[in-house]
Amino acid sequence: MLALSLGQSSAPYVRSRVEAGDTTTQCLFWTAPKLSWYQSTVGNPDTKPAGSEFDAVRRSFQGWQTIFAGCGNLSLEEGGRVDDRSVGYEVGGQNRNLVLFRLRSCADVAPSSDPCWGDDSCGNAYDCWSNDAQTIAVTLTTYDQKSGIIYDSDIELNSPSFTFTTSDGALCPPRVNLNCVSTDVQNTMTHEIGHFVGLDHTNFTGSTMNPRAPPGETTKRSIDSGSHAFVCESYPKGQASQSCIQPTADPNLGRKAQVAGCASTGAEAWLPALAGWALLLVRRRKGARA
Ligand SMILES: [Zn+2]
Repeated sequence: MLALSLGQSSAPYVRSRVEAGDTTTQCLFWTAPKLSWYQSTVGNPDTKPAGSEFDAVRRSFQGWQTIFAGCGNLSLEEGGRVDDRSVGYEVGGQNRNLVLFRLRSCADVAPSSDPCWGDDSCGNAYDCWSNDAQTIAVTLTTYDQKSGIIYDSDIELNSPSFTFTTSDGALCPPRVNLNCVSTDVQNTMTHEIGHFVGLDHTNFTGSTMNPRAPPGETTKRSIDSGSHAFVCESYPKGQASQSCIQPTADPNLGRKAQVAGCASTGAEAWLPALAGWALLLVRRRKGARA
């Protein structure tokens, strides 16, 4: 689930695939012209000034929306704040595209005997961070395995392990989170929204989609030219969103595409795949930071 740097590309942008990193499989993309996203009412209570995290998340989406408005075919709109605390896609469910901060670690609240550990459901069951402690945030995208069409995407941020900040300035000293930068909300969210709209990681210098984000970083707040080109080329204004593999005359493919369209009726044949994308800290594995 963590896209570590195995064979990672250095292209200006890399589209997410049905099978991560496998360019023989379809790209992931939205086809709905209008997408709503929602913030959990809980926010991140530790952020200072209070409530500034909501604005930072909004600015992150606005950065992408500005590009989509110029050359793209999607519009990203903020819905109201909601009480939902569940990520993922449920057939027949409400399936909002949700942004939420998890405030406690599952290791601290879910008993080790709980079956949720086996089926990866502890996060929703206990409203906790269930991923690697050193991962800053995760975008969970649900899509159709045949067509690559995205149905739902949710973003979770790891508050138990990271001090999220919204200020500018130098790197924060320990336990300080105002007028300095620790893990910047907008930096993190701009990257995660890249995953949300169908981007994978790239090692291209200066890309918003670089997989690592050291403490104090704010450069990913600004969307780079490669990621900008992704929007214009994959979601061209006035045209359909672009797949990577053209549909063929294969009758089986056609049939499978129809099955995908029946998702909301809950057919067992249709099981969405789940992709977790992680923004990794420098200190993970590479050991660049203590
Ligand atoms: Zn990432």
